Amino acid sequence: MNSKSGGEDAAQAAARLRAEIEQHNVRYYVYDDPTVSDAEYDGLMRELQALEAEHPELVTPESPTQRVGAAPVSAFGSVRHAVPMLSLGNAFDEEDVVAFDRRVTDTLRGAGLLGPAQEADYFCELKLDGLAISLRYEDGRLVQAATRGDGQTGEDVTSNIRTIKAIPLQLKGQAPKVLEVRGEVLMNRADFEKLNQAQAKRDEKVFVNPRNAAAGSLRQLDPRITAKRPLRFFAYGWGEIHGLPGAQGGLFAEATAGAAEASQLPEKSHGAMLDWLASLGLPVNVKHNHRARGAEGLMAFYAKVGQLRPELPYDIDGVVYKVDSLPAQKVLGFVARAPRFALAHKFAAEEATTTLLDIEVQV
Ligand code: NAD
Repeated sequence: MNSKSGGEDAAQAAARLRAEIEQHNVRYYVYDDPTVSDAEYDGLMRELQALEAEHPELVTPESPTQRVGAAPVSAFGSVRHAVPMLSLGNAFDEEDVVAFDRRVTDTLRGAGLLGPAQEADYFCELKLDGLAISLRYEDGRLVQAATRGDGQTGEDVTSNIRTIKAIPLQLKGQAPKVLEVRGEVLMNRADFEKLNQAQAKRDEKVFVNPRNAAAGSLRQLDPRITAKRPLRFFAYGWGEIHGLPGAQGGLFAEATAGAAEASQLPEKSHGAMLDWLASLGLPVNVKHNHRARGAEGLMAFYAKVGQLRPELPYDIDGVVYKVDSLPAQKVLGFVARAPRFALAHKFAAEEATTTLLDIEVQV
């Protein structure tokens, strides 16, 4: 499938890569059952990106390089996101990180948001390997939950999300009229192994990894099944926010990619926004979130997390760097499928876990 046929021109190569990537998207996003590793998938995507960079006339709005995820499946109701759910630009080595930091610094210096010798401040997070979810709270009550889908429209998984104990059904304190929380649903490795063993005993489907187990569990048509699955959640962002209680500090209106109107934010930095979400009772990964300055600071965080990775209870596939200042984020803006102010720095794939093999032997 991935072999180049002789005499292929750039347009044919782009068409072949797109078809192959689309197939993998469906296996991954719709069936939660990928047939190639993430590293192989990332390789195909990079090949296509390089080809499109060389031949910009080949870029189409339908290309997977320009789109997020896959369209929602009709078995679920669909939810149109008020603020689109985007992907992230990827970095695979130090050179990519340095180039990202340079672009950010140059833009912010040009806009007068950084002095000539000043470096950019970043908020660094773990890149949790689960699935993105948007939770909508109205007057503090959880009213809707949706998957990312194709970024514009996701699947309505409200009944399933309501079974996850880490997700508050009612926020604490003074919640705004509308708050959309963005975060990751995931499964701890130990819980995944237990689940797979139980599945195997019952002769039911075993999952390839905790990410697919989390996605498969959340996208069940029967919420009673989801309720039995040990799912967790961390918040790392937000969508629409309106109607902040009067007691909140200075409002900051954020223009977000494709949003109908600007959201009102109570804080001016990403880190302070996460503290605010935590104060409302939402689980935030405070233990590992970290502030860093410049490319050197980012690389130091990457190295530290690389050491920590085997000891974490859950899978991560990298770290995420976000420009901390929200006015700076606004200046940096977005490209088609990702913000220019954030970057996912991926880790090399971990040794495949032996769990699946053990189970196959037991079965
Ligand atoms: P991505 O996974 O590279 O990055 C975006 C996602 O990161 C977000 O949607 C969110 O879910 C997640 N995330 C985790 N922690 C986060 C944090 N702290 N802040 C913000 N976001 C955070 O991009 P993608 O578009 O979701 O998926 C592309 C990736 O999925 C590929 O690079 C590949 O690894 C994998 N994939 C694999 C296959 C396959 O067949 N193996 C197919 C499709 C996609």
